[in-house]
Amino acid sequence: MDFWVVVAEEHGTVKPVTRELCARAAELAGAAGGKVSALVLSGRGEEINQQLAGLGVAQSICVNSPELRRYRTRPWVDAAAAAVRAHSPKVVLVPATTNGREFAASLAAALDTGIAADATEIAVDGGKLLAKRPVYGGRLVDTIEFTGDGPCICSVRPKAYSDPGAGAGDAPAVVATEAALGPDSLDAEILGFAANEGESVNLVDADVIVSGGRGIQDPKNFEMIQQLATELGGAVGASRAVVDAGWIPYPHQVGQTGKTVRPKLYIAVGISGAIQHLAGMKTSETIVAINKDAAAPIFKIANWGFVGDALQIVPLLTKKLRERKGAGSPA
Ligand code: FAD
Repeated sequence: MDFWVVVAEEHGTVKPVTRELCARAAELAGAAGGKVSALVLSGRGEEINQQLAGLGVAQSICVNSPELRRYRTRPWVDAAAAAVRAHSPKVVLVPATTNGREFAASLAAALDTGIAADATEIAVDGGKLLAKRPVYGGRLVDTIEFTGDGPCICSVRPKAYSDPGAGAGDAPAVVATEAALGPDSLDAEILGFAANEGESVNLVDADVIVSGGRGIQDPKNFEMIQQLATELGGAVGASRAVVDAGWIPYPHQVGQTGKTVRPKLYIAVGISGAIQHLAGMKTSETIVAINKDAAAPIFKIANWGFVGDALQIVPLLTKKLRERKGAGSPA
């Protein structure tokens, strides 16, 4: 049972989700008597390949074309579909990033096969791929079983598995091919590229996240959230309630319709713990909740809790952290 992992990268650096999926695919393929291949579509095979060492990847299938350098749906899907038809892997795993979600669905359509979108867990049972995915706002978890011969396309959320980190050892063997892209594949042109504010919010890969919800009372109090996050070397997250209210931009949103995160430390400040918020952060290693309502649902999943006013507790925590670092008192 052969697995492919579509490589997600940025300017030649693989995203952690690529390693997460390669390592999980290697476990499953190992048990099911198959091998793992990485599919590199950006034409940066040489830069990428060394970064795949030590992850159990047997080979990198590098599809080259200047048209693939930057993600565009049609050329990427056409190039990937041709490669899948040529090699017939049983499973194609795609990181469920913004582009990856679109790509996976389009690839499944192009190959006229099924898809499990946005999985949080994958397994193999009796030679069949099983994918779990939350539905109805995280209230239920579906298990999807692929029937037929495949290929089974499955997009998997970042942080569904832990990042094994950069590996050592030999890089996978390279199988290079040229993409044959006709005019039909090139129906759109990228005229420019503008990074938005969201580009600098790397919530998904942060080890520490301090998130603010409606309980912080006022958008200006995100300053105290930012100060605590800065002291801890972390990033700022938010509930949907405050994103919808315009207190902070959408790239900060954690939850079912925001980012899925798995930091070492997640501090939820003035967040009630609605199921849709929990869907995006409940697998964090340590969860600390700060809420004035002792009955708030967030405390059910928190490892540590402060019952009290966030507007007093957060600045106090920041002050204590600064004192411990010997940096003096906060402003
Ligand atoms: P509230 O529920 O209003 O909670 C505020 C909390 O702050 C309360 O627990 C209160 O006790 C506490 N508080 C008040 N004052 C203080 C104080 N001074 N100090 C300390 N604590 C205080 N939500 C998400 O977060 N992410 C999503 O991705 C998401 N997706 C959704 C998708 C769908 C389809 C739907 C229907 C909803 C979604 N939601 C999502 C919304 C979700 O249901 C909740 O409405 C939202 O998470 C609530 O945000 P909150 O906890 O900030 O606000």
